Amino acid sequence: MNDIYSESPAKPRPQIALENQSYWDGLRRHQLLVQRCLTCAKLRHYPRPMCDACYSFEYDWHALSGSATVHSWTVTHHAFHAGFKQDLPYVTVTADLRDGIRLQAPLAGSDVNLAVGARLDLEFIDVDAELTIISMRIRA
Ligand SMILES: [Zn+2]
Repeated sequence: MNDIYSESPAKPRPQIALENQSYWDGLRRHQLLVQRCLTCAKLRHYPRPMCDACYSFEYDWHALSGSATVHSWTVTHHAFHAGFKQDLPYVTVTADLRDGIRLQAPLAGSDVNLAVGARLDLEFIDVDAELTIISMRIRA
């Protein structure tokens, strides 16, 4: 077999743009930042230009604690991108953060105590010198 075909392709990387730059910069510093509307104070995630509550384009960035509970989860058995094939099967949790934000993240560690309402802690994974992503771990 030719070595070219035995290598795993790289995982896709996020497209970092003006709107989400602060989010990704925050992760590099191990801070979870979300947008906060300057008109009505609603927090929002993922980063986007306009508030879906009052349609304001004005926002700042607000740091969250990362304390969360499990809303739901999925177990992936078929990689949607070849770069994730080596991780199969893996769990993605939908987490309700205490601050009112709901987000998705890969589950780190064991899934033995995975249940709706289980307490989660946010973790930061330094992928390389330019990219940090988040994961969630079930609180022991
Ligand atoms: Zn608003």
